[in-house]
Amino acid sequence: MKIQENQIKLLVEKAQTIKERAYVPYSHFPVGAAVLYKDDTIIQGVNVENVSFGATNCAERTALFTGIANGYSKEDIVAIAVSANTKDYITPCSICRQVMVELCQADTPIYLTNGNNDIKEVTVDELVPYAFSTLDN
Ligand code: ZN
Repeated sequence: MKIQENQIKLLVEKAQTIKERAYVPYSHFPVGAAVLYKDDTIIQGVNVENVSFGATNCAERTALFTGIANGYSKEDIVAIAVSANTKDYITPCSICRQVMVELCQADTPIYLTNGNNDIKEVTVDELVPYAFSTLDN
């Protein structure tokens, strides 16, 4: 599905603005994510930290899991945007990349942004080469 420039802009804005709701009392490192679905719905997510650090959930997973809870499947996802106030492009952590392998398609575009509002497009396949994606031999 071809994504329009205005859709990318809106998706990135949704990822940028939701950062304000991140729960980050420990790292003070807010991250926002937004997932665009084929019906034009955008589901946003933020990182939610915990004093027991292992219980922390990233913005990307928050958004993708909410999409599952709302009945969407990987075929419904058009694109994902991730935003943080970083100098370089924010990139998903390895756990989120593995979740993207599971819940997105290999060619799903991921728009990475930085604190200067620059945008870099990558795909799930580019983020996770040689992905572990099946239990079949
Ligand atoms: Zn993550």
